[in-house]
Amino acid sequence: MCYIEKDRILLFFFICFSFMFYGIGINYATEQKLAAEQAEELTTEQLAEATTELPAEATTTAQAEQKTYVVVIDAGHGGNDTGASYHSEEGKINEKTVNLKIAKYMKAALEQYDNVKVIMTRTKNVYMDLDERTDIAVENDADLFISLHNNSLEGAGGYASGSSVCVAIGNAKKELSTESQKLGCNFVYELGELGLKQNGLMMRSAVSYEYKNGKPADYYANIRNPLKHGIIGIIVEHAFIDNADDFYDYLCSKEQLQKLGEADARAVARYLQLPAKDSGEVLASLSDYNVKICRIGQSGKAKKFYRTYYK
Ligand SMILES: [Zn+2]
Repeated sequence: MCYIEKDRILLFFFICFSFMFYGIGINYATEQKLAAEQAEELTTEQLAEATTELPAEATTTAQAEQKTYVVVIDAGHGGNDTGASYHSEEGKINEKTVNLKIAKYMKAALEQYDNVKVIMTRTKNVYMDLDERTDIAVENDADLFISLHNNSLEGAGGYASGSSVCVAIGNAKKELSTESQKLGCNFVYELGELGLKQNGLMMRSAVSYEYKNGKPADYYANIRNPLKHGIIGIIVEHAFIDNADDFYDYLCSKEQLQKLGEADARAVARYLQLPAKDSGEVLASLSDYNVKICRIGQSGKAKKFYRTYYK
């Protein structure tokens, strides 16, 4: 064999091997590409499956079914109507001012829960009559109307300190009235937790107003009017503003009023079983709650007894 022939043979083998490796290379590349495409298809399929498995409709339905409660917070008195007062050495402190501060703290605290819309009847020092306040609740289709007050010695029931919650007697709209009593229990409980003396629930009959069924109506317009519109109305008398101990222990600093507002918000959240926005936690419902009741009849006489709710 001459060198030229040898070179040609080597060149031939070289070309053959080159084609072989090139072929293998292409094959390998194609396989890799196919595998990648299959993987991609699989991923797309899996995604499609995952998307169909997502309970999108169920979630939407659940959200739609989750009721948003409307809570109207009413800061009692305002403007020329000062409410009761405490005469301290620094001057006169009016109930209307204290009530508004508690109401603002209550709103802020209640808005830390889900499923609730909070509306205030007043956010400033303005006069409003009782009908205007109820109208706001009716216009907003409220579930609860909560009027915030502080008591004075002239208040009913013969008490001089501590908290009372005025609720419906039960002479009309029995179910709603019972609910107002249960809501009231939550306020009595929360205010009691702050150390306030608990005078319990107050149920008072009007002297001259009657419901359609002929039974004495609720004495307080803030309870009677909402009830007529199917709204649960209560009045929270946090403490006695004209009692020096109550005033200095519960009503004289921002921090104290904030604690009252937060206790009010917890009472509503516990009653409505609202989840906290940050943790989703729901406060345990009251159980076997034995509460003191002061029942004032048309004659003005007070009867005091105990009743158990959440049995
Ligand atoms: Zn008042």
